[in-house]
Amino acid sequence: MLREDTNARFEPGFMRRRFVSGRREFAFISGGAHRAILREQESAPVPVAEDERRTWWMFQGRFFWEDDGLEADEVRALIHERERRLRRRIERAKDMMIAEGEAAGPRREPIPEDVRREVFRRDGGRCVACGSDELLQFDHVIPVALGGASTLGNLQLLCAPCNRDKGAGLS
Ligand SMILES: [Zn+2]
Repeated sequence: MLREDTNARFEPGFMRRRFVSGRREFAFISGGAHRAILREQESAPVPVAEDERRTWWMFQGRFFWEDDGLEADEVRALIHERERRLRRRIERAKDMMIAEGEAAGPRREPIPEDVRREVFRRDGGRCVACGSDELLQFDHVIPVALGGASTLGNLQLLCAPCNRDKGAGLS
């Protein structure tokens, strides 16, 4: 297991630094060793401290611990995988924002998640009317009130302003 340790840091001292994680303190290192770590961690994870269970690593300004006795390249691979997962979570969160924008409208059956994804992908994440990528909503081409279904063929991405214009045109 590898985790980022946001409570870890080097504390300054006279001619030397101490590595600290939360309330735990580790051995002092010399200023020269500290500078070498700072240089090296720009290009590869560097081990900076360990206890019976964990090894702490510094990589590109951030600290991580792992308890699997990993090598530097394995730590780097896991950190890379973490970043990828994080980016996917952000993408999902953006999709959710769109879903919530839609939920603010009239009460209706939710559009299945796989359909939302596919409509978003097909329309390139942009309003089909004006190309905007902001305030997007899922629009039923044939309104639900007129029997339109929540299917791929009856849904499109519209930004909120274009959706309002469409609504005005229908009434
Ligand atoms: Zn638009």
